Amino acid sequence: METKKRPHVVILGAGFGGLHAAKALAGAPVRVTLVDRNNYHTFSPLLYQVAAAELEASDIAYPLRGILRKMPNVDFLMAQAEHLDLKNKKVVTTARTLDYDFLILALGSVSGFFDIPGAREHSLRLKTLEDAIRVRNHIICCFERAAQLPDAESRKRILTFTIVGGGPTGIEYAGALSELISSSFTKDFPEIDMSESSVVLVEAQNSLLPQFPHRLRRYALSHLRSMGVKVHLGSRVRQVTGTGVFLENHDPIPTETVIWSAGVRGTPRVLTWGLPVSPRGGVNVLPTLQVPEHPEVYVVGDLSHLAQDGRPLPMVAPVAVQQGKAAAQNILNAISGKPLQRFIYKDRGSMVTLGRNSGLASVKGFSFTGFPAWVLWLLLHLAYLIGFRNRILVMTNWAWDYILFERAVRMIVPKVSVDQIPRSSSAPF
Ligand SMILES: Cc1cc2nc3c(=O)[nH]c(=O)nc-3n(C[C@H](O)[C@H](O)[C@H](O)COP(=O)(O)OP(=O)(O)OC[C@H]3O[C@@H](n4cnc5c(N)ncnc54)[C@H](O)[C@@H]3O)c2cc1C
Repeated sequence: METKKRPHVVILGAGFGGLHAAKALAGAPVRVTLVDRNNYHTFSPLLYQVAAAELEASDIAYPLRGILRKMPNVDFLMAQAEHLDLKNKKVVTTARTLDYDFLILALGSVSGFFDIPGAREHSLRLKTLEDAIRVRNHIICCFERAAQLPDAESRKRILTFTIVGGGPTGIEYAGALSELISSSFTKDFPEIDMSESSVVLVEAQNSLLPQFPHRLRRYALSHLRSMGVKVHLGSRVRQVTGTGVFLENHDPIPTETVIWSAGVRGTPRVLTWGLPVSPRGGVNVLPTLQVPEHPEVYVVGDLSHLAQDGRPLPMVAPVAVQQGKAAAQNILNAISGKPLQRFIYKDRGSMVTLGRNSGLASVKGFSFTGFPAWVLWLLLHLAYLIGFRNRILVMTNWAWDYILFERAVRMIVPKVSVDQIPRSSSAPF
């Protein structure tokens, strides 16, 4: 078929869902336009290691045009999706308006703050590469600032790092940050008494990692505590200010650093696009991943809301990847007049790392902890990372850190003048 006459598939978002949808449509009798506001794909499971000065941002990102080079029927458009005209099948982007025959929405999620006063304004997020760089710079700035302060109370507040949310991201970052402080920073800042510094993890529920088996949750809790992380369970955040976190059932925590990993919700932009949205901000989709009444529109990944076995599917990369592929296949089925397939998520397990030599994994009903889980986590993350160069760089950084107890990326870039060292939400990146 002449290329221009082929059905046009527009994919919004080149994260896990969008990119895998594009790959599944490569070589198929369709014309694809993949749209993203960035010209790179981010491997978000390793964002926390950028924020913990362990990896460079570029180690976990890959240029999209490099990935799409071998897919002649896939074009890339770097633009922000602004508006969707469902009736006329048009997407308005900051670059131009695109007509589509089929649309895959894969715009991901944003941090959810549950309307908690001050949380949005005074917390750092960990959702994008810029967020991760901002968190890293902020943490290093706090130490530089503390090194110049004569007053112990202010030093303690500046060196108290509060992470809200005891899910995988919060736990992994708490472990990585605690190790950054006890290894590199202890050597870098001899003028600071490190007993004045603390990493605090706050979780509203009575347990960490609610989606994991009980034994693994207990392991995570005791391991983090053994690393010196102060874990407050059953502590709901009431308010966040520039100098503290206020909790229900607990004394306030004086802190200038709040890292928010307590919740995510579908990207709010779509709320104005006339799509059926669930209370957690995802777009309600049919089991075929189509939007009801708009069979040409599919939604995948964090932005979609679909229940399986009575529970909403989790917002994790494998769901996005599998849904991206399934939506692409259903579009090809629709074009060739074949029946559409219901999406069924194949859960191959979950794992979390807890710093050096320790992790936990739950795979097909088996759960294991410690060194084997940690090694499995390392291997799988290396395997899923895009790009040979990135794998080598990540492996080198990990080996450097493992052997020398040294974090490689302890620079504040871009530059911040010391008298302007920032507080949480105003931190530069
Ligand atoms: C810190 C962190 C750690 C994580 N760790 C894990 C883990 O260990 N294991 C796991 O399975 N999952 C993990 N996740 C979750 C996982 O990353 C997400 O579930 C997955 O990325 C969802 O894929 P997606 O395609 O829906 O969205 P994303 O991968 O987020 O992609 C969305 C894309 O849309 C683009 N975009 C957004 N809005 C616009 C717009 N208006 N215009 C143009 N482009 C736009 C973005 O730039 C992005 O490229 C983690 C997430 C985070 C933030």
